[in-house]
Amino acid sequence: MGWRAVRIFSSNLLGKHQQKNMPTYQWNDDHQALELVPGTFNYRSKWACFDCRKSFTRVRPTTEPDKVLCPDCKEKAVDMGHLFEAPPKRDVRSWKVAEVLGKNQLKYRTAGNVAFLNYMITGNGKCSPEEVARNIKIFLKIR
Ligand SMILES: [Zn+2]
Repeated sequence: MGWRAVRIFSSNLLGKHQQKNMPTYQWNDDHQALELVPGTFNYRSKWACFDCRKSFTRVRPTTEPDKVLCPDCKEKAVDMGHLFEAPPKRDVRSWKVAEVLGKNQLKYRTAGNVAFLNYMITGNGKCSPEEVARNIKIFLKIR
């Protein structure tokens, strides 16, 4: 994982297409994270299929983000955020943990998300899927 430069433009310097594609964020108290307002920005994200234990990169569609399907089994894939690092296919336990995060819509979108999920939720990969589900209940308001 590396640092990525973020450029902030004054919106009147941008063309019509770019103005439409301006990211707008809002704070989600349940997830303790800044989240993109749906429909404001196209971005590349990593998607996961928990049945195939497969991860792939796609541009997130702004209008229909649920329409991304697994290229192998054609079932609905889950957006895990562009900083998601997929475990190896044989690592069933880590994939179960990722599935718990995905079901609770917790994503690896920012360095802050990664730190929070690693230290508070997944115990740096040491927690079992059950412990992860318990941590989510303890530290977040998701029920
Ligand atoms: Zn699949």
